[in-house]
Amino acid sequence: MTDLVVAKFGGTSVADFDAMNRSADVVLTDPTTRLVVLSASAGITNLLVALAEGLEATERFARLDAIRQIQFDILDRLQNPNVIREEIERLLENITTLAEAASLATSNALTDELVSHGELMSTLLFVEILRERGVQAQWFDVRKVMRTNDRFGRAEPDIAALSELCTLQLAPRLEEDMVITQGFIGSEAKGRTTTLGRGGSDYTAALLAEALNAKRVDIWTDVPGIYTTDPRIVPDARRIDEIAFEEAAEMATFGAKVLHPATLLPAVRSEIPVFVGSSKDPKAGGTMVCNKTENPPLFRALALRRNQTLVTLHSLNMLHSRGFLAEVFGILARHNISVDLITTSEVSIALTLDTTGSTSTGDTLLTQALLTELSSLCRVEVEEGLALVALIGNHLSRACGVGKEVFGVLEPFNIRMICYGASSYNLCFLVPGSESEKVVQKLHHNLFE
Ligand code: ADP
Ligand code: ASP
Ligand code: MG
Repeated sequence: MTDLVVAKFGGTSVADFDAMNRSADVVLTDPTTRLVVLSASAGITNLLVALAEGLEATERFARLDAIRQIQFDILDRLQNPNVIREEIERLLENITTLAEAASLATSNALTDELVSHGELMSTLLFVEILRERGVQAQWFDVRKVMRTNDRFGRAEPDIAALSELCTLQLAPRLEEDMVITQGFIGSEAKGRTTTLGRGGSDYTAALLAEALNAKRVDIWTDVPGIYTTDPRIVPDARRIDEIAFEEAAEMATFGAKVLHPATLLPAVRSEIPVFVGSSKDPKAGGTMVCNKTENPPLFRALALRRNQTLVTLHSLNMLHSRGFLAEVFGILARHNISVDLITTSEVSIALTLDTTGSTSTGDTLLTQALLTELSSLCRVEVEEGLALVALIGNHLSRACGVGKEVFGVLEPFNIRMICYGASSYNLCFLVPGSESEKVVQKLHHNLFE
């Protein structure tokens, strides 16, 4: 293991000139922080995604102006903006051209090319901020090392290629200077730009840390750590000072936006601790995600994942038959769908689709082709607008009274589906989306306050 720390700053931490400077302060307080991974400035990715959907001219120009405004507000406060003005102008021109192309015909590959510009611009600006503070920092195009497959919008990294390319291309630069690079984006074998799915910069940081054998990943965001639930939903949520990999991974998977769901995969694989803190208030401390924690509690946290779709498949043929589930799963696999939660009865199966790491391209998982194929086998019922609430904890399936404690307080709510027992780390259930925040607040009050 090297003494390298990889620091990642999210959108709000590079939102404007002041935020970038606060993030630069954070970088400079720890001399082992030599690789910095950045998101796009807050708001930019959403604007680029809108452009990629193909907009008519007026709408398009409004979005282009908004992007230019955010980036020029930062540029114009540099002592010497002209050093990178041309480069930023060139990227803005690219965006204009690509957005025009998208208004004629859009594609997932075009979307990824377009949205990648957010991270390209924020990293250029940040390098200049550091240079003006007398720090030697190199800008590095992460696409040189972040090799992925060509599943645009939600590409998967090629870990072996990444490791090899990092050793060849990135490690030697880190010997010389601090390196600033982009989160979220990558490139496939033919060199076309890909993205790792929305919020993917956390994942980039963890992947690079693994490839470079780093000693820690620091995720700097707008909250000073991981809380017992989203503090936006429950202001009384408490910070968790130390949490085990498995628990944090469950939280991320089940919707705690503070970490991209895949962030902890490389960290767990290579036992790299992950710290989460606030770039606005670094002194407030944060959460350390590590291998083991002292006295893990029965109830750790609540997570909420919105916009869940429940698919129920009914067939009398299922009764006493064999291989029905295999057939259903075969169809789902052919359509590249991974199942998330599942419950079965004698004649029906209810399942939710895995939306982990939503795509940058906004593709729907439930296509007409999939529904047609499933309908040839059984009656298909689709319910939208649900939310998944997950209670994360330890040894949950071995403890007594968990069901009563959880569902006792949820009496006024309709619980649409429950999954319990497969994992000792979680108990999950679906509720109507409109009631999900109330459910989380009520449960948090009873279990954590
Ligand atoms: P960034 O842009 O830095 O990646 P995100 O918006 O993706 O930041 O993630 C930070 C947000 O995650 C917080 O503002 C908070 O609302 C949300 N969040 C959800 N669940 C949790 C949790 N359990 N603990 C802390 N923050 C959470
Ligand atoms: N900028 C990308 C997004 O908004 C990636 C990230 O912020 O992690 O999804
Ligand atoms: Mg994020």
